[in-house]
Amino acid sequence: MGIVNIFSDFASLFFPKLCAACNHSLVRNEHFLCTTCRMKLPFTNYHLTPDNEVAKAFWGRVQVENATALLHFHKKGIAQALLHKLKYKGRKEIGIELGKLAGYQLRDSLFFKEIDIIVPVPLHKARKRKRGYNQSECLAIGISEIIGKPVDSSSLIRVLNNSTQTRKHRYERWENAQGLFELRSPKNFEGKHILLVDDVITTGATLEACVQSVIEASNAKVSVFALVRA
Ligand SMILES: [Zn+2]
Repeated sequence: MGIVNIFSDFASLFFPKLCAACNHSLVRNEHFLCTTCRMKLPFTNYHLTPDNEVAKAFWGRVQVENATALLHFHKKGIAQALLHKLKYKGRKEIGIELGKLAGYQLRDSLFFKEIDIIVPVPLHKARKRKRGYNQSECLAIGISEIIGKPVDSSSLIRVLNNSTQTRKHRYERWENAQGLFELRSPKNFEGKHILLVDDVITTGATLEACVQSVIEASNAKVSVFALVRA
């Protein structure tokens, strides 16, 4: 046992590290999630199959090269618990750790090999100010750490606030989503393959608008990643 282990055991007497999902104390060699929760992570494994449910959400709507989500959503399930803490409890590190898990999948997938730039779906300025961070950017940072591609959080911006959007139907949402995003520096994306990163995909309307604004402004290719498929 090294000095570092003795010290971290000592420190954890006073500051026990907790599982990010179930809040039980972690034992040595457990990191971020306890073994039980880690085994229960509801992986979609969509990164292995191009014709998956997330990809299908874009069919006939907008050109997306490849699309995947890391986890399935179940009510009161583990993905919901993690997402809630990431979005509303200031737990940025959950985004980074899950981003890293996603990064390993993307790195080993045949379908995400040609990504050049990782772009988090931007929050509106006011919302980011309130939350203090963009949860999708945390995911992007984690992915970047593993696949070794840069994150660009400034070229794509959100121009309107869409807080009422969740109450609308899909068609109205698509309409509403138009003009939601703006690519400020299209040159940065010219000829590049962009990986758009979001926390949740439901109908795909927000991501669709995002992809649209990137494609319209530059000749970039776009693939899509979401943490959770709801
Ligand atoms: Zn746990």
